[in-house]
Formats: sequence, C-alpha cells, structure tokens
Amino acid sequence: MPQTRRDYYEVLGVGRAASPEEMKRAYRRLAMQYHPDRNPGDASAEVRFKEIGEAYAVLSDPDRRQRYDTYGHAADGMAQGPDFGFQAAFDLFDMFFGGGGRRPTTGPQRGADLRMPLTITFEEAIRGVTRRVEVTRPTTCDACRGSGAAPGTSPRRCPQCDGSGQVRQVRQTILGQMVNVQPCGRCRGAGTVVESPCPSCRGRGLVEASRAVEVQIPAGVDSEMQVRVPGEGAAGDRGGPAGDLYLALTVRPHAVLQRRGLTLLYECPVSIAQAALGDTITVPTVDGPRPVTLRPGTQFGDRVRLPGLGAPDPRTGRRGDQVVIASVVVPTHLTEAQREGLRALFPPDGQPHPVRKGFFGNLKDAIGL
Ligand SMILES: [Zn+2]
Ligand SMILES: [Zn+2]
Repeated sequence: MPQTRRDYYEVLGVGRAASPEEMKRAYRRLAMQYHPDRNPGDASAEVRFKEIGEAYAVLSDPDRRQRYDTYGHAADGMAQGPDFGFQAAFDLFDMFFGGGGRRPTTGPQRGADLRMPLTITFEEAIRGVTRRVEVTRPTTCDACRGSGAAPGTSPRRCPQCDGSGQVRQVRQTILGQMVNVQPCGRCRGAGTVVESPCPSCRGRGLVEASRAVEVQIPAGVDSEMQVRVPGEGAAGDRGGPAGDLYLALTVRPHAVLQRRGLTLLYECPVSIAQAALGDTITVPTVDGPRPVTLRPGTQFGDRVRLPGLGAPDPRTGRRGDQVVIASVVVPTHLTEAQREGLRALFPPDGQPHPVRKGFFGNLKDAIGL
C-alpha cells in the first residue's frame, strides 16, 4: 500500500544522518509549534502535529529507523505497530514534556485498528498478490444505524453538558494557561444519552460482524512487515471513521532460494568436473529456470550474479539480483575405474593445494553477502 506520505526526515527537518539528540531537539521545537492547543481550529496544524509525532516515534527507535531507511514508508505502512493516531501523538508529547495537553475524547471516535496474521508463499511475497481475508470486527449496528437507541426512539440531548459533550476547566501547563476540555462524565462525550437502548447492540451502536476483505499485498514484502488496509478496522463510535486493518506477514521459506534484503541466494551444487572444466547450468529463479555459466576453475563459494532476478523493493519496484553460489560437491562413492582415473590424473602427493583465493576467503565472501 504505497502511500503519498512525507519523508520522516523531511517532516522533522533533519538530515538522514541526524543524531538522536538532533532529532530530539527537532521534535521538541516542532511539537511545541504545532501543538493543536496553540493553533485552535487549524486543521493543518493538527495534521502536522500527528505527522511530527509519528516521524519522531519511528526515527527515535533504532530498529524502526533502520527498517525505514531500508524500505521507507512501504515497510512502515506495513507499520511496526498500530496506526499512529492523534492519541499517540498526544501521549508522546506528554512523555516528552511531562504532561502538557491530552486531547479530550469527545464527539465521534475513530474505530480501533485491528491486527491479523497472514501467511503468504515466497513467490507471492516477490510478485505481490491479492488475497481475501475474513475479518471479524465491530461494525455499525444496522438496527439503530449506530445511534444505540432502540428503533423508533432517538438519543436525547445530555442534560449534564447540555449536548456539548464537554466540561471545561482552566489549567496551567508548560505551554502557558490553557483551557482544559474534558469529556462529560454523564454522556461520555457523546452529547446525547440513550434512554431505551437498541436491543441488537445493547446500546453500543456496534455489533461484531464478519466480512471478506480483499487485500492487495505489494510485490517485495517480507516477513515481519505489516500491510495497512485503510478503513477496514473496527467501526468508530458515534459515527466516527473506522480504524485500519494491519496484516502482519509471515512469508513461507522457498525450497532452495534464500532472501537477504533484495538479494536472492541460490547455492548451486556442482561436480568436481563442472567446477574444473566450467559448464552452463540451468538454475531455478523466481522467474523460472535460467542458464548460468561457470568459468573453468570455479572454486567453492564463487558467485555469479543474475541482475534483476532478485526481490523487488516494495517502495520503488526496482529489483535486486539473484546470486548463484557454487558449492563444489566431492563424490563419496567412486567406482574402481573412477578412482584409478583420478589417481592417474591427480596423484595424491602429501602437499597442500592452495587455490587462487583460498577456500576460507571464498567461504567468508559467500557467507558475508
Ligand atoms: Zn443497535
Ligand atoms: Zn453530557
């Protein structure tokens, strides 16, 4: 689900090599500047505030930062956690400044994000796939259309807050004097109270329901990534927007190919004769069989690169390479004639036989890919 989201470094206005201290300073300055309590009624400030919090939450965590650097928002959209909502932005701000401005929870509430596991095959992860997943989640009640009031009745204005859903108080904070708005205790911020609750949902306005959701898994995803499906989470309270669905991916291993980032590795068993004389061998790739030419004198661990046959970058679609690693197989069962032939051609002489680069050098190269 590639999304048009701004680069986190850009959001914080720091370079890609920024130290944790620099990012902390940037977050501190911007979060103060765009705090919604300082920009009342400015919707773009709210968006910025949330964006700043999300960028800082990712970049201040070394693991998440590294994944972001590698895969960008693609990795993150498969976000390493539930969606970073306004509440999370305020929580982060509070953590940073020791309490400062929690958003009151009144009015329609966004539904919860849901997380589900999804297992796909190696090939599906490389090529991308459309899957239908059965999601059971809180859904707006049909009987009362989410109001919570029994059919034929409707919710009444809350007498406690006179329908505003809020109670106000003035308090001192790090940002100066602020009006603290708290949700009304009687109606829990709804502004209305239900006197005869809907029997289908017992006044909640939501019921559990299952539905098949079609999900596009982008090409190039890997295990431990999450794919975000906007709006397919739990329905919101009081007509609020639905949360998002996150699919936590597990990719089944391939029989012979291994993945390292965008590179696919194939360990190709070759005979002593193929290694010594060279050969053109047909090897498996995710795009089907491909010929690979081994030069005469191929050593254990020698590599041949097949450009563009690796995994795609889920962000850009650019594909990595497949790397074929020669694994020279020494025969264990020889006929008498084969033994005689080998002895005649390569008589054992009690000496070491160094190869061009050295077995251990090649082995290290092969493992250190
Ligand atoms: Zn209902
Ligand atoms: Zn009230």
